[in-house]
Amino acid sequence: MHELAITQNIVALVVNASPHRPIKVITLKVGELSGVQEEAIRFCFDVVSKRTMAEGARLDIVPVPALLRCRKCFLEFLLNDKWACPSCAAIGGDVLSGKEFFVESIEVEDEREENALG
Ligand SMILES: [Zn+2]
Repeated sequence: MHELAITQNIVALVVNASPHRPIKVITLKVGELSGVQEEAIRFCFDVVSKRTMAEGARLDIVPVPALLRCRKCFLEFLLNDKWACPSCAAIGGDVLSGKEFFVESIEVEDEREENALG
C-alpha cells in the first residue's frame, strides 16, 4: 500500500527530528495532484506511530491547490475540471504546484510546560 510507505517515512522523519519529546502536531502539505489519500494517511498514521514520539499527534493536512501554466499564452491558472486555460482555452499546461507532499512543520511538547504540570 502506497500510503503505508509514505506514512512510515513521515513518522521516521518526525521522530528523528524529535527523538525525546512527544510530538503534538504534524503539519503536512498535500498537493491536489499528489494522489495521496488523506483518509488513508490518517489510518496508517495511527498504526505506524504507535509507541513512538509521534503517537497521539494531531495531523494537520493542508491541501495545496494545483496551479498550471498554459503552454500557449503562459497564463498561470488554478486547475479546473477541463484542464483548460481560462484565457485561450488551450488544454493542459505545465504543473507548477499541486504534486507536492511533505512535512511542513512539527510541534513538540514544551519541556517547561511539562515541568509546570509535573
Ligand atoms: Zn492560455
